[in-house]
Amino acid sequence: MKKHLARKAVMFVMALMMLPASSWAAGYTETKYPIVLVHGLFGFDNIGPVDYWYGIPSALRSDGAKVYVTQVAAANSTEVRGEQLLTQVKQILAVTGASKVNLIGHSHGGPTIRYVASVRPDLIASATSVGGVNRGSKVADVLLGVAPAGSISNTVLVSISNGLAQIISFLSGKPTMSQDALAAANSLSTAGSLKFNAKYPEGVPTTACGEGAYTARGVAYFSWSGAKPYTNVLDVIDPALALTSLAFGGEKNDGLVASCSTHLGKVIRDDYAMNHLDEVNQTIGLVNIFETSPVTLYRQHANRLKNQGL
Ligand code: CA
Repeated sequence: MKKHLARKAVMFVMALMMLPASSWAAGYTETKYPIVLVHGLFGFDNIGPVDYWYGIPSALRSDGAKVYVTQVAAANSTEVRGEQLLTQVKQILAVTGASKVNLIGHSHGGPTIRYVASVRPDLIASATSVGGVNRGSKVADVLLGVAPAGSISNTVLVSISNGLAQIISFLSGKPTMSQDALAAANSLSTAGSLKFNAKYPEGVPTTACGEGAYTARGVAYFSWSGAKPYTNVLDVIDPALALTSLAFGGEKNDGLVASCSTHLGKVIRDDYAMNHLDEVNQTIGLVNIFETSPVTLYRQHANRLKNQGL
């Protein structure tokens, strides 16, 4: 009798093991509201908005999420980009029949989604900033020539500018910055960001490196970021990020943004071993092989939203 039971138990466990793994994950990323992805500065003009989020939309969709990839001005002020995003959010709501969306923005996409969540909180379930420039970037300060005098030596300044020129050329396919890019740089500078935060304060920490309100005007706020500028010797952009990271003088950063500047709402983590481009699984999946995959972070976050009924 005991033997019989034991055999049944073994067969049951074997049957469980033979079930396809995907059946366990079914619905893992099935959020109540559609997920809307919002790119950062330059938006990789040369490779298009979908590939910007390398492998991420498909990984979210495979377990149930509805995902929309938006395209706003590659380089412009946060308000201009925000208005463009708001128009697209309204279109997504009309097409899906959903009453709200979950916004996820990378880099300049962080402030861009905050603008929409601030002016139309009724349309937004959550706003998640990944490597978001929420309190400005010292790299933008250097670019505009407003880095605090004497804070960085001239030699280092040249290195930072060289690194930045390489990144701009790499992302936009153009060697120089346009007028609109200067508007973007103003928005991304420390002074420009603080001015923006005064008008659109939701989710922004009120202490230097703390967390912000988890919920503001009915919108849930989250953030995460990397803090390792150089992560993969095969990625051609890593040396440039190592140069721009010099702008931070030892402060924790992902090559373009200080960890503390990325904080918004609930800080999931601000020190993944990722650089600014790893955060969106670039370049084409060349990330730190010793760190959790960036794609996994987006899947986990979709599951977090789902479990919060969002
Ligand atoms: Ca990379």
